This record gives sequence, structure tokens and C-alpha cells, in this order.
Amino acid sequence: MSEQYDVVIVGGGMVGLTLACSLGGAALRVAVLEASPLATDWPADSIGLRVSAITHASRKVFDNVGAWQGMVDQRVTAYGEMHVWDAGGEGVIHFDSAEAGEPSLGSIIENRTIQAALLQRAEQFDNVELMMPARWQQWHDEQNRLCISLEDGRQLRTKLLVGADGARSPVREQAGIQTKGWGYDQHAVMAIVKTEQAHLHTCWQRFLPNGPLAFLPMHDHYSCVVWSTTPDQAAELVAMDETQFLAQLGEAFENKLGQVLEVRERGQFPLRLQHTLDYVKQRIALVGDAAHAIHPLAGQGVNLGVLDAAALAETILTSHAVRRDIGSLQNLRRYERWRKGQNVAMMLSMDGFKRLFGSQLEPVKLMRNFGLNATNSLTPVKRLLMEYAMGDRGDLPKLAS
Ligand SMILES: Cc1cc2nc3c(=O)[nH]c(=O)nc-3n(C[C@H](O)[C@H](O)[C@H](O)COP(=O)(O)OP(=O)(O)OC[C@H]3O[C@@H](n4cnc5c(N)ncnc54)[C@H](O)[C@@H]3O)c2cc1C
Repeated sequence: MSEQYDVVIVGGGMVGLTLACSLGGAALRVAVLEASPLATDWPADSIGLRVSAITHASRKVFDNVGAWQGMVDQRVTAYGEMHVWDAGGEGVIHFDSAEAGEPSLGSIIENRTIQAALLQRAEQFDNVELMMPARWQQWHDEQNRLCISLEDGRQLRTKLLVGADGARSPVREQAGIQTKGWGYDQHAVMAIVKTEQAHLHTCWQRFLPNGPLAFLPMHDHYSCVVWSTTPDQAAELVAMDETQFLAQLGEAFENKLGQVLEVRERGQFPLRLQHTLDYVKQRIALVGDAAHAIHPLAGQGVNLGVLDAAALAETILTSHAVRRDIGSLQNLRRYERWRKGQNVAMMLSMDGFKRLFGSQLEPVKLMRNFGLNATNSLTPVKRLLMEYAMGDRGDLPKLAS
């Protein structure tokens, strides 16, 4: 006996769960398959290593699906300012939410908090079924359906299969969807640290010759460090003893917040740019990192994925309301057209920034420092950049507007 669904989502990460919640309460039967068991509680004094800078647009989506309060109940740190400077010159740019008439530029949230709040919200919808741990093995086409076989022998039939299964996406692979991209020959070292001085609810980012070093504000005097550098230096930074790490980090950051006093978790993540040639096929759609992976220097990766999820949900619900086939290629192409252009534009600008700030050529250094200072003094240009960074620009899905 096989179970019948309208939408099966593979991947219960931040993006897959956002999609599930966006379809919550609709007259559609939805299943989420997640390979790992997801944590919903942890010791009160622990801090998750993976964090995300969440834009206003993502916050609105989380709020509209009823998951934002669950995140606030755990821990959310709003930041009102962003201070960026270049190690290769005098260039500085400072963003202040007050200049955009907003109380904040965004929020720093642990990924586990986002995931747990979305999971708890998804559990409240009668039409959403969470299967975890569960892993699909293969699927085959049937008339107007896909038949999915799970590793535990179960079979599910669905009108639409969504790959929200991350950058290595097995769904994308089985669907034969090609990707384009390149490794950055950079790894990001992430670490939770405590500094002598308060972070002033500001995101700090210094562009070093090997890559950007960011301090993202968390509670009390804690910050999450995201230090993009060569794979060799990243491995050294993760392996070195605490005293050495604190000294090197403080020096690289020019001790902007005084001494770095303590480091908790540390980890290293390879960085690459990757984009799929197609987001959709008949009965298949990709969202989040399954469709695109981006350099974390402006903290946009999961935010693009949240907008994918909201846009796909809107596309599904609109076509369902007029009794169209939600899994038809013609219908799914609307979602692809909606999101692809916006994602590509953001990916290419981040790639451009990464290259511009990675260059050690003197004329380029001079130009970028001049550009930073010029932009810093041009209020309308700064306001526009802030609107992009807050996610308030572009063709937003209803859940984000
Ligand atoms: C160092 C670093 C810093 C970052 N900082 C930011 C930031 O500040 N802001 C931001 O917006 N983004 C940031 N990002 C990007 C962000 O982390 C990703 O975009 C985001 O995690 C992608 O979410 P996802 O749900 O698409 O995929 P994932 O988080 O990869 O989730 C995929 C899920 O699918 C599951 N899965 C995989 N295969 C199967 C299968 N066969 N069956 C069932 N389940 C399966 C996995 O277990 C996983 O839970 C950063 C990334 C890095 C590397």
C-alpha cells in the first residue's frame, strides 16, 4: 500500500521546513522526509556553532507562517549597524538602520533555533506529516505522479517532489539536473567567541588578503566569527590551541572589541559558488542550497532559500486554487522564472565583491578603498544597498511583503 501526497519535500533543513509551514493549513497533503533526527532542545548555556544573519524579508516569512515567536522565545539578536573596513587601505563603510528608518538591519539567529521553531510550527498543521529519520532511495514516473521508495520499504505517491536537500542534493542528482560553479579555494572557519567589549549590536567585517573576517553579534559579549581564508590556514586555525587562536583572531580583527577572551566551538566549512541550470523538471522543483550555493560574505544564502520556499508555496497554492496540476512543468516554470533571475543577481554581486576584495593589485586596492569611502558618504546609494541587504528589494512573495 502506498500513501498519496500532493507535495513531498526531501530535506527538513531551514528551507524545507519553511516550505512545509508555508503550505501548512492548505487543502494539500504534504510530507517532509529528513534523513537526520532534528534537535529541538539543548542545554540552556550552550551556543550553536552555525548561525545565520536573517533579513527582514525572511523574518516576515517566518512571522507569517507562525514560527517567528518560537525563535524569539529561544534567542534572536537584532543588529542595527554594520561596519566594514579593508585591511588593504583606508576604506570604511558604515551602515546604520536609522538611516533607512528601520529599527534594525536584520537578526543573528542560531540555525538550530530556526530549524527547531519551524519544526515545532510544522508539527501543528494537520496536513503536514514529518517523517524523520527517513531517506528516499529512488523514484519512478507513473501517470501524473511520482512513486517514491523509502529505504525502510515504504512507498509514497506524489504530484510534486521538492528537493530541499542541500548543496549536494541527491534529488537534483537523480533528476539529472546539471550545476555550474566553482570552488573558491576558501574555507570558512566559524567560532563562537566572547570579547572584552560589547559588540554594540553591530556586524563587523574586515576584508583581509585571504578573505573576509566577520564578527556577528550574539547575546551578552558573545559573537559568531566567520573567517573565510585558504583551506590550509583554516585547518591551522581550527587545530591550534585556544591561546594561539585567540591571539591570531584578535590581531586579524585589530582587537576592535578589545581582547578576544574565550572561544567555544570551532569548525571549518568549504565554500563554493554553485547554481543549477534548471530549478524545475516535470513533477520536481529545487529550493535553497539544492538550487544555489553562495559565498557567505553578505549572509544571504538561507535568505534566498526562504524566499524560494515562499515563492514556490505561492505558485503551488495559486495553481491549486484554479485546479491546475501543481506538478506540471508549465506551472513550475513560473516559480523558476520568479526566483532564478533574483538569485543569480545576488550570487554574481557576492562573487564580484569577493573578487574585488581578494585582489592585491595596487590599482584595484586604491579603487575599492575610494569606492568604499565614496559610497559611505552617498546616502541614497547606501540606503539602496541597505534595502538589498535587508531583503526588502525585488519581486517578493506575499509571505515576505
Ligand atoms: C560558513 C557559512 C556561513 C553562512 N552564513 C549565512 C548567513 O549568515 N546567512 C544566510 O542567509 N546564509 C548563510 N549561510 C548559508 C546557509 O547556511 C545555507 O544557505 C542554508 O543552510 C541552506 O539551507 P537548506 O535548507 O537549503 O539546506 P541544508 O541546511 O543543507 O539542509 C538540507 C537538509 O536535507 C537533508 N537531506 C539531505 N539528503 C537527504 C535525503 N536523501 N533524505 C532526507 N533528507 C536529506 C539534510 O539532512 C539536511 O537537513 C552560510 C553558509 C556557510 C557555509
